Amino acid sequence: MSSETQTEDESADSYEVIVVGGGPGGLTTALYTTRLNHETALINRGGGRAAMMVDTHNVIGVPEEVSGNEFLQTAKEQLEHYGTDLYQDFVTEVEFTDQEEHRFEVSTTSETYYADSVVLSTGFTDGRPEPPLPRTGRGLHYCLHCDGYMFRGESAYVMGHDEGAAHVAMILLNFADSVDILLRGEEPTWSSETDELVRAHPVEIIESDIESMFKDEDDPEWLGGFEFENGERREYFGGFAMYGSDYNNDLAAGLGCEINDDGTVAVDDDGKTTVDGVYAVGDLTPGNNQIPVAMGKGAKAGISIHMELRTYPKSLDELEAEGEIEAAAADDD
Ligand SMILES: Cc1cc2nc3c(=O)[nH]c(=O)nc-3n(C[C@H](O)[C@H](O)[C@H](O)COP(=O)(O)OP(=O)(O)OC[C@H]3O[C@@H](n4cnc5c(N)ncnc54)[C@H](O)[C@@H]3O)c2cc1C
Repeated sequence: MSSETQTEDESADSYEVIVVGGGPGGLTTALYTTRLNHETALINRGGGRAAMMVDTHNVIGVPEEVSGNEFLQTAKEQLEHYGTDLYQDFVTEVEFTDQEEHRFEVSTTSETYYADSVVLSTGFTDGRPEPPLPRTGRGLHYCLHCDGYMFRGESAYVMGHDEGAAHVAMILLNFADSVDILLRGEEPTWSSETDELVRAHPVEIIESDIESMFKDEDDPEWLGGFEFENGERREYFGGFAMYGSDYNNDLAAGLGCEINDDGTVAVDDDGKTTVDGVYAVGDLTPGNNQIPVAMGKGAKAGISIHMELRTYPKSLDELEAEGEIEAAAADDD
């Protein structure tokens, strides 16, 4: 284990809540459970989708020029301030114990921890195009709702050949002046209905593969365009890569949580999975893949865990079983 902050009490290994994954979803759950007074640890490998952000869009109160890593660092400092234990490590397995408390054993590459509740916020990995590539955030983009705005009046490409690529290309017409789909020598796998639809839109479909890319003359950090194997040269402001999502759902599947057909983990409105005590939040679950959405899911899961774990209020049955009601009645006499 390489601990980011665990220096004072190296022996502490049991928690009420263990969050796996330190993106916006997991960080928010950990902030809530910590501030709702539950001993919480967050175990994060590092990287992830938020760390890929060059700028941060659509997050009220966060300036656009804040990078993903700066955003995450601020969040980690908030957690440290309230006393969350942060570990930089990779969780290899989560198993059931036979104990009533500490129902889960969480194994990392080098340590074992115990928890009453486990939250999975392990996200997904974007399928990447083969080189040549512009830099992510500087002509290569993965998040339409985050970056579509910057394509207003510009020329855009969508790299890919599946249903998602065709639909993102059509949606991008709401922003960009021109949109090309770059098949890169692959046959489209979209349906015949989608084929008819996309060809009826003002989207150009380029079959030839890319041979090389060139940079923007005014800003060498940005993409200028691509040269294709058929000799064509096309200028682009930038575009989106659509090569699918590889969901990091191994831990959820290992625990027996229901996994949806697309690889997301099935959850209820509070992030509860189909397995008692196991929650999932953020991009790992169905819905829009956005920071405010991941944070909202993280918050709801945090509050729901608090409602499960908190001691008070007790039910009348519990209080009667403890004899406190009789004691109070006796005092009144
Ligand atoms: C290039 C790019 C730009 C984007 N820009 C924006 C934007 O401007 N605004 C916006 O709202 N959204 C943006 N998004 C989307 C946003 O980043 C995601 O919706 C958000 O990060 C999801 O948060 P998360 O916590 O679910 O997952 P992630 O941020 O992906 O974090 C998951 C974390 O879990 C860790 N992990 C996975 N498995 C394990 C394991 N077994 N053990 C330990 N750790 C593990 C990963 O290492 C990672 O740190 C962008 C996405 C991309 C790719």
